Amino acid sequence: MIPTEEQLTKYANLAVQMGVNVQQGQALFINAPIEARTFVHYVVEAAYEAGAENVQVNWSDEVLTRKRYEKEPDRVLETVPAWLVDRQVGHVKNGGAVLSIYAPNPDLLEGIDASRVAKAAKASGEALKEYRKYMMSDKVQWSIVSVPTEKWADKIYGDRTTEDAVNSLWEKIFQIVRVDQEDPVKAWEAHNDTLYKIRDYLNEQQYDALEYKSETADLTIKLPEGHIWAGGGAVAENNASFNPNMPTEEVFTAPHREGVDGTVKNTKPLNYNGNLVDDFELTFKDGKVIDYSAGKGFDTLKHLLESDEGATRLGEVALVPHSSPISQSDLIFFNTLYDENASCHLALGSAYPTNVKDGEKQSDEDLKSMGINTSFIHEDFMMGSKDLTVYGVKSDGTKEAIIENGEWAVPK
Ligand code: ZN
Ligand code: ZN
Repeated sequence: MIPTEEQLTKYANLAVQMGVNVQQGQALFINAPIEARTFVHYVVEAAYEAGAENVQVNWSDEVLTRKRYEKEPDRVLETVPAWLVDRQVGHVKNGGAVLSIYAPNPDLLEGIDASRVAKAAKASGEALKEYRKYMMSDKVQWSIVSVPTEKWADKIYGDRTTEDAVNSLWEKIFQIVRVDQEDPVKAWEAHNDTLYKIRDYLNEQQYDALEYKSETADLTIKLPEGHIWAGGGAVAENNASFNPNMPTEEVFTAPHREGVDGTVKNTKPLNYNGNLVDDFELTFKDGKVIDYSAGKGFDTLKHLLESDEGATRLGEVALVPHSSPISQSDLIFFNTLYDENASCHLALGSAYPTNVKDGEKQSDEDLKSMGINTSFIHEDFMMGSKDLTVYGVKSDGTKEAIIENGEWAVPK
């Protein structure tokens, strides 16, 4: 199916209205790969239509990205020019919203020295710390959506022609983000309501800890005092509601950075910085990864864990039913935005400050003392399966199943 003008308009409107929800007179910054050019034109039109002003697009080109890693000396990879930082930090400081179109080639940096990729990631992670904080604390509206690119579609549908693969992926994306429905905005509002019900129930319980049991997980995760479950839409400082991720199927909170014990294996591959990591296992003690292995991408995993101190600890616990529309598609997307919404997952690295009471007002040091992890990375990995049961443990020691054999066991 080649996407029609009508479908592209619907999707662009959805991303602008439900996704980033740009307001009258608000600036908008769009991150996009050059392959998404046509879709971006629709998005920009929808943004002006919604009253946005000063709409800027930051284009990326994967051929150039790969060349940069091949050719540039380390000292260039390790430096982020101030003007580049100012451009992004200045935008959010002035209250601008950010929409990212995320569609990376999962194998983009295959064969590139993983330590060079890690150095560049570290430099940009440190340079853009303030920018990231604006997003992770919901100070401004931000949203991530995906559109097909050739390399990405080929990775999912390896046995088809590229054209066929791209068109199949469009069809899949439209289904999953509800663009195929009569009124996608209404469908999203109803979907958010379902997630809010579960979120509210979990917030009432204030569990002390979560226990994960499956063939690939045996893990206890303590939850910090005053933790807050979130899911579906969020609200920015200007009171505009927005959906950070489209699609989204998760309800998530912050784990205690020193309260994770046990082992867990991934159940879907992880695409990190243009390299795939798979068949990996992490062992935690007192919140920290003390042992790990990987069947594929060991070096990439090693560099990820060595990014900084917080990278060896968890920053997110997210619950997703195994029957989510994305997992029913039975595809591996090799794209975290899609795969994380098909599977219960955890994230290594920084927690969202909004996942704890008044977290957005705290310094990194204060967050740490509250048990909230900080890092310049935040990397989701998928560990859900159809035999996973997650228990909520209350302060009196009683337990109840929240997820049972992969599905919600809480009232919804
Ligand atoms: Zn997540
Ligand atoms: Zn995450």
